[in-house]
Amino acid sequence: MTKRNKLLLINPLSTKRRGLIRDQQSIFPPMALGIIAALTPEQWEIELVDENFERFTYREADLVGITALTSQVTRAYELASIYKEKGISTVMGGIHVSMLPDEAAQYADSVVIGEAESVWGTLIHDFESGTLKKRYQGNLLPLVDSPFPRIDLYHPGYVFGSVQTTRGCPMSCDFCSVHTFNGHQYRARPVKDVVDEFEKIPQQKVYIVDDNLIGYTKKSADRVLEICREIIRRGIKKDWLCAASMNIADHEEVLHYAAKAGCKMIFLGIESELIDQLESA
Ligand code: SF4
Repeated sequence: MTKRNKLLLINPLSTKRRGLIRDQQSIFPPMALGIIAALTPEQWEIELVDENFERFTYREADLVGITALTSQVTRAYELASIYKEKGISTVMGGIHVSMLPDEAAQYADSVVIGEAESVWGTLIHDFESGTLKKRYQGNLLPLVDSPFPRIDLYHPGYVFGSVQTTRGCPMSCDFCSVHTFNGHQYRARPVKDVVDEFEKIPQQKVYIVDDNLIGYTKKSADRVLEICREIIRRGIKKDWLCAASMNIADHEEVLHYAAKAGCKMIFLGIESELIDQLESA
């Protein structure tokens, strides 16, 4: 029998961090790794090590994939270096290394810049044929037929499940990385996909991880309304929270149905209290 390749996915955690990022009540499953796992061919064995719950200990792998926000990246580089030194191929992705790929290249054999969906299949193929490249540039794909993350790989200790319904933002706030990483186009997943995935989440509490659930058009607001109505129609009983821009307050019907569909909290992005700053963003 031929040996299966093993992909080790790691969600790193800096133990020096304090506050919400460490609090079991406010952490969310590593969705990017769940999506990467879903995109990996079936013949691969996959293990996900999540430092939100267990401190990493060394284990064998053929390919190692690590994602990191800036708050996690020092630990991510530490772990990538362990495998790189042993000659095991390491791939890093996520927002920090996408912004600083030269920095990441010192620690990882390959860096995925941007959203990984469009290049992960090629990367796996290149690895299998011994031609792994130093960089892969992801493209922004429409979110139709997006793979559902492999939630079966997530640690069962998460209090919150998570789902993403959109990516991208048409605004250009200069302190924000969303438009640089996910693009200016507001890309939305089909309502059915969103609610199917929402329904499968085992947790009773869900965080909708979109940077701005409501968007800026009537079409995007109508889509949120449709999602809420579908949650109600299916009788799904979950409590959820999300993030949105202030204009969600203009959509009374959306707020009404969101509350009926289980919405308990909305994080509002109050980018500035100065009108001229808001207008120039
Ligand atoms: S509106 Fe929000 S998500 Fe969009 S660029 Fe500004 S801060 Fe980022």
